[in-house]
Amino acid sequence: MKISLFLTYLILILSPAIAHSIHETNDNALIISHVNIYTDPYSKPLTNHHVLIKDGLIVAISSKVIALLGALVIDGKGKSLVAGYWNSHVHFTGIKWWHTRFRSNSTLKSYFVEDFFQYGITSVYDTGSNPANLDYILSETKNSGLESPNIYRTNGGYTSAGGTPHYLWPIKLDEVSSQSIDGSSIAKVLEKFDGVKIYSSSDVGDNKIVVMPPETETISTIVDYAHKQGAPVFAHAHDEKGLISAIAGGVDVLAHSVPYVSGLSQSQLDRLSTISIIPTLSLMEEVSYRSGRSHILESTISQIRNHAASGGVILFGTDHGFLKDSKFKREIQLLAKAGLSWQTILASLTVNPSDKLTENTENKGSRIKVGSRADLVLLNSDVLTATEDLAKISTTIKDGRVVYQH
Ligand SMILES: [Zn+2]
Repeated sequence: MKISLFLTYLILILSPAIAHSIHETNDNALIISHVNIYTDPYSKPLTNHHVLIKDGLIVAISSKVIALLGALVIDGKGKSLVAGYWNSHVHFTGIKWWHTRFRSNSTLKSYFVEDFFQYGITSVYDTGSNPANLDYILSETKNSGLESPNIYRTNGGYTSAGGTPHYLWPIKLDEVSSQSIDGSSIAKVLEKFDGVKIYSSSDVGDNKIVVMPPETETISTIVDYAHKQGAPVFAHAHDEKGLISAIAGGVDVLAHSVPYVSGLSQSQLDRLSTISIIPTLSLMEEVSYRSGRSHILESTISQIRNHAASGGVILFGTDHGFLKDSKFKREIQLLAKAGLSWQTILASLTVNPSDKLTENTENKGSRIKVGSRADLVLLNSDVLTATEDLAKISTTIKDGRVVYQH
């Protein structure tokens, strides 16, 4: 293990704030030394630098050695430091996430390590789970120091009449129309949730698809009210019709790529390029495998390749929870197969979701700078040159605390 308590009185004073802190206890201080820092996906790394973290925030980044009595030190030599990752499409729906209030916080923490921290993931967007289970987790994180990822979440999802997907049975989603939805109902949803989800088309079984058609203006009404509250709208589009509705309605995010799309007009393609897409290619691979239709994966890979080429934003997400196994590494491989560079994939894991899914990107931890929240990943590569480097997780740091070490 590379962590050791730093027990010397060698002290480099970097700023009056730090000089002052020398006289305080530094139990909450962490130093990462001799590390190459990728402050954001597209900037050149700061080589052989040192980072001081205190009380969950980055307080100094320097080319000179930083030392502080009592601080925990991680030797970053031969490693790279990047911002904490996001998984922008998860569900807390596996058996282990049931009845969370009956589980100890150490058990819950071990689940977070298993599902997220071991992959460098420090922020997740839940796009539909039993709210009570997440309510408990959020409450324990806030009140009892449970070390969880940052958790953002949408409501379960709005559909048209009869539009609940067959695989959600026995759950029945909220059925809405432009007449039934209004500002107060969206405001009520956003008291609890951070974003709104709609099913612009869904597979309801027996080879039947239910679509929210653009002319009903249900989607655009929801989007208008959500945007007035500063909240993003996610769309689940099962097919091309649902995609056209989502585009016309002005949604912000597609929760999945959409297979077999060929009939979009140029203006629809232009509008699609302004929507963020969560590819969930590993899910598409599984659907392809289960259905025996390999073209599903091929067509979605092609869609992601075209989206990135047209300047569209990609958000990393795996539909974790709907899929039982973590597909973190496989998703990265498939994004690379779609032609995305490691920088584009790193952006999909960090700055893109932070910028697109949250208000006020200051202090959100998606860029490494003084004053930012210390959500960080230490990678076992001194220089990042390939997509697989992004999956070589050495240490995950959340709010300045080590939550996982390989
Ligand atoms: Zn999902």
